[in-house]
Amino acid sequence: MLAYQHAYHAGNFADVHKHLGLFALVRSLTGKASAISFIDTHAGRGLYPLAAKETQKLGEYREGVERIWRERRKIPVGSPLGEWTASLAAQQSGAELDCYPGSPTWLGEALRPQDRLTLFELHPAEHRFLADQAMPSTNNVTRRHADGLKGLRQLLPVSTPRLCVLIDPSYERKAEYDEVAETLAFVARKARHAVVMVWYPLLPAGRHRGMLERLQTAGVDKLWRSELSVRAPAAERGMFGSGLLVRNPPWQLDQRLEAAFTDLAPRLAEGGTHRSEWWTGEI
Ligand code: SAM
Repeated sequence: MLAYQHAYHAGNFADVHKHLGLFALVRSLTGKASAISFIDTHAGRGLYPLAAKETQKLGEYREGVERIWRERRKIPVGSPLGEWTASLAAQQSGAELDCYPGSPTWLGEALRPQDRLTLFELHPAEHRFLADQAMPSTNNVTRRHADGLKGLRQLLPVSTPRLCVLIDPSYERKAEYDEVAETLAFVARKARHAVVMVWYPLLPAGRHRGMLERLQTAGVDKLWRSELSVRAPAAERGMFGSGLLVRNPPWQLDQRLEAAFTDLAPRLAEGGTHRSEWWTGEI
């Protein structure tokens, strides 16, 4: 089942949470010279023109990136959110917000000559867009039209001294929560020092809890957990929040992200909240 297309949701509050986290993580890792293999298991299109009919249809970016964009001149320049908005501005064709960069673009713009980036995308049309319009292959960027979690397992161990993985599925299938937990446990065994970021939705059904339980059972440690909510969990359907797990975050990244997300949440929604913790198994 490949019905999901991220263009319908591009730039929503969850994207801002995830991509600000990814941006700060990558900046922190590239502060040291040694080479990094970046792997994005679910890449999407890489770049989302906001005028596209899919993106206009739900207009979720209006409650996400557009809110931050409108406030950008009030955001402290040296803060993670200030640096992220400056980078976002540099990626626009002019002075207006006209496109939203996906994870491959956020990873690609930080890549140094010594680094590698592998992008997995299974949807044929999404992969084609990625290839033709967002991320052409270069010496250090490889695109794979293949399953991201299987592909990640096959790439281990990598040849660079460091590894950073983003796991960001659409969770169209319930089984994906378990598959993500199993893959993270596998990576933790095979590449102990790998830095892994996993995104998950906060839905009224609370399906992410099963994933957290599996991680606990598998003994996956060194996990920092961040959850940003834009409304109270409602009885009806619909994502009310966005979750991130980061395994092996670089030194002090937890504190920087805690401050950045606490600042971000009320900018995204009146009453928006953020909580984070070193996750020890309590769900
Ligand atoms: N990471 C992207 C970003 O932040 O810009 C968004 C990714 S979107 C949430 C999930 C993507 O995974 C979709 O583009 C979907 O087509 C793709 N996908 C679904 N199943 C997949 C699989 N088994 N392997 C790789 N990609 C898959």
